[in-house]
Amino acid sequence: DRHPEPQAEPDPSKKTLVILGTGWGSVSLLKRLDTENYNVVVISPRNYFLFTPLLPSCTTGTIEHRSIMEPIRTILRSKKASAKYYEAEASSIDPDRKVVKIFDNSEVRGETTETEVPYDMLVVGVGAENATFGIPGVREHSCFLKEIGDAQLIRKKIMDCVETAAFKDQAPEEIDRLLHMVVVGGGPTGVEFAGELQDFFEEDIKKLIPDISDRFRVTLVEALPNVLPSFSKQLIEYTESTFKEEKIDIKTKTMVKRVTDKTVEADITGPDGKKERIVLPYGLLVWATGNAVRPVVKDLMSRIPAQKDSRRGLAVNEYLVVQGARDIWAVGDCAVAGYAPTAQVAGQEGTFLARLFNNMAKTEQLEENIRELSSSLNLKPGNAAEISRAIEDQERQLRRIKDIKPFHYSHQGSLAYIGSEKAVADVSWFNGNFATGGSLTFLFWRSAYLSMCFSTRNRLLVINDWLKSKLFGRDVSRE
Ligand code: FAD
Ligand code: NAD
Repeated sequence: DRHPEPQAEPDPSKKTLVILGTGWGSVSLLKRLDTENYNVVVISPRNYFLFTPLLPSCTTGTIEHRSIMEPIRTILRSKKASAKYYEAEASSIDPDRKVVKIFDNSEVRGETTETEVPYDMLVVGVGAENATFGIPGVREHSCFLKEIGDAQLIRKKIMDCVETAAFKDQAPEEIDRLLHMVVVGGGPTGVEFAGELQDFFEEDIKKLIPDISDRFRVTLVEALPNVLPSFSKQLIEYTESTFKEEKIDIKTKTMVKRVTDKTVEADITGPDGKKERIVLPYGLLVWATGNAVRPVVKDLMSRIPAQKDSRRGLAVNEYLVVQGARDIWAVGDCAVAGYAPTAQVAGQEGTFLARLFNNMAKTEQLEENIRELSSSLNLKPGNAAEISRAIEDQERQLRRIKDIKPFHYSHQGSLAYIGSEKAVADVSWFNGNFATGGSLTFLFWRSAYLSMCFSTRNRLLVINDWLKSKLFGRDVSRE
């Protein structure tokens, strides 16, 4: 339990390393970064790290949201040398002047709400925003599932729909609408959320409000011919048959075109290739169709000519350096390094950068030592042999650490929860792959995610939540 010294002013002898974001990429970097080597400044509108893999469980109260949050202040406190944190959003980056423009977007604001932070080195780890593809009505009427606030809103809305459906004299078609939960996007986010939702209904709501129990329906809408496109064929089939048993309706080859406050309009492609328009009335609509580029990233891309052909984010080289920029690196969902936008990739990229930066600092130190030793060689010829040995030693160390290999992603596997205490896993094992699904995989899923939680505190809270919801049921009170 360390308490770093307060850092009053930046040390002029050190470079200023600015890190944007407090997600998987940036926090993995911070965790392993030797903060003594740089003046570290972290900037993010979110003053905590969020363990996203368990976010779908927060939408129904299986897990309470604070159990998967870790304050950035706690993370920084455990570092050897202190680092600054500003709760702010980066609005633009000027790669020529080497400054980041930041603004305070929170409810309480001081006199200064906008300012600039200069950097010598910059890491962009701002993640991505929700893709809507400009489909009308999506932003106004649907819930996303990316941040804690989204999960809280969904949790509230589920109960709002249920209580409104149970309202006296409600018309039958209105009850059906209110209890129809539509999920758009059959990627892992949509699938995991649909599974959690059906569990909540089967295990809790049905018992508490039996009079509406036969009207609750979950529909998962996916534009492609199947859900979970990144998983193996066998697991796709297993997920689809499990969903059938759970009574989750999967509508594949169905592309949503328009959303209103009470309906989703979509085109279904039939076996003959013909399109048919369907209208689904809904009570809750959750939109999970993947990632789009954040404005701050788009703005930076427009300032760097080498980025003009990049569409999905900042193109980086094998050392995660932003192509065409100097002293800027990018990690995670905002970087295009040829891998899927996952926590696993972002985490490994952050760890790689920590090693790179620690090495860069060590290299500079060793080079400085060699310079000093070489000049003392002329001043103290009597100690020449000893000094030469010292120089050789420093040069050996330098050769060893200078030879840092490019970033290489090592895929550990993909895991997803699919409801009724079942999970699917594509796991890499000794250069091979094996696919598994079911209740044992569910236990594997739980233990894997538990071990990946940020801290022991998070782990204990998550275990406690799992036990609590198993023993007493989920809390259905609407905050
Ligand atoms: P993020 O973790 O999204 O962090 C971005 C950070 O940047 C945040 O702190 C944000 O506040 C901050 N930020 C945003 N805008 C600005 C700005 N303008 N200036 C400064 N800071 C800014 N992946 C897996 O591998 N396994 C899983 O099981 C899994 N489950 C998931 C479940 C859900 C519900 C979701 C939504 C995603 C899941 N993912 C999973 C994907 C994974 O969460 C992302 O790939 C990962 O979070 C990317 O990390 P990142 O650091 O790039 O971005
Ligand atoms: P995704 O990009 O994986 O899936 C989105 C799906 O939405 C796609 O299958 C797409 O065909 C569909 N879609 C797009 N527009 C549509 C429309 N108009 N109508 C109907 N369907 C439409 O998105 P995601 O699930 O949010 O995942 C984002 C990233 O996070 C991925 O890389 C994913 O692997 C990762 N993730 C991983 C896990 C896990 O490993 N358990 C969980 C969540 C997210």
